[in-house]
Amino acid sequence: MFRTHLALGFLIGLLFLLIYNMPYPLLFLLIVTLSSGLPDIDHPKSKYGRKLFFLSIPISWISKHRGFFHSIFPALIIFAVLSYFDYSFVGLAILIGYIAHLIGDAITKQGINFLNPFSTFEIRGPLTTGALFETFIFYILIVINVFYLVKFIF
Ligand SMILES: [Zn+2]
Repeated sequence: MFRTHLALGFLIGLLFLLIYNMPYPLLFLLIVTLSSGLPDIDHPKSKYGRKLFFLSIPISWISKHRGFFHSIFPALIIFAVLSYFDYSFVGLAILIGYIAHLIGDAITKQGINFLNPFSTFEIRGPLTTGALFETFIFYILIVINVFYLVKFIF
């Protein structure tokens, strides 16, 4: 679910900031959080898929949902291209947000293949998407986020 991905992206971005000193931490966190919804661009009915339909529809022709766009490779390509053009700050934030999404999907029953198309190895977890339990996890993430945000600010 979209909001759970954003909450997890926010948390992972925040933990990254607690470990590494980054310039413009708020901007960094914003890009990480927004990027954590990005892999679902391979699904035209997802939140980003509907908004960016001109990308999601062609993508859905070439890749199944949770296929190549749910591997680490699109994130690495985006990171490499942006770094090449001297935007490694943005590239790193997108990379972290993207990976946060993959981690989130990897703990669901459907699972994901981080190395698609070079491997068929899938990682899956016990979580059912959209279930009441996910709502519970979302609120747990909010509480943890508030805790670390306070820790980060003070
Ligand atoms: Zn996904």
